[in-house]
Amino acid sequence: TNWSDLGLSEKMLELIAEAGYKHPSPVQEKTIPFALKGLDVLVSSQTGSGKTASFVIPSVDRFKEKNGTYILALSPTREIAQQTGEVFASFAKPFGMKVAVCIGGANMNDEKEALATSPHIIVATPGRLCDHLERGNIWLDFIQCLIFDEADRMLEMGFAKQIDLITEQIPKERQTLMLSATFAPAVEKLARRAMNNPEQVVI
Ligand code: AMP
Repeated sequence: TNWSDLGLSEKMLELIAEAGYKHPSPVQEKTIPFALKGLDVLVSSQTGSGKTASFVIPSVDRFKEKNGTYILALSPTREIAQQTGEVFASFAKPFGMKVAVCIGGANMNDEKEALATSPHIIVATPGRLCDHLERGNIWLDFIQCLIFDEADRMLEMGFAKQIDLITEQIPKERQTLMLSATFAPAVEKLARRAMNNPEQVVI
């Protein structure tokens, strides 16, 4: 399979070539066509499989010509949120899209200011995003694409309550992408609660 077979825009194909990604990885090849159509996708994936680009590339390509905060990605740790924010920035900045990263340990006011600029994309850890919600720093009613990265780890870390609080504030007519290394019962339960008839990608 070639990148040009997946339904991506010309400009996105150029950015992928610039990134040096010669061919889509298996998880990308299977996930991107569903995700580009706006479908919910439940993906089993390991770190190192190219899973980050499998949700970054189609979500940016879908919302690149729109203004507003349409994409929210939740990550289990600060480090993963930061790395994911960097991958988003590399594919989104060329379209003029802004990314805000909200993580524990960073300056709350700096994040508040970044959120106030209406970033197109927010990448956050669940606890920190809840802090911003409680303080009224952000509303989630515009989100159209919700991404749970490493869902199993987020649940293992005890974020179920925060995840529910966040999910409840996002319109039901949205796309939800969920990536997880394992499908423990808690992950399946979250998928049933938060997703709408998802396509399944098993690598
Ligand atoms: P991830 O599984 O998202 O942590 O990605 C692992 C690494 O693979 C990252 O350094 C990416 O930059 C790289 N990568 C992602 N997709 C591709 C691809 N299609 N071809 C080559 N490298 C890739």
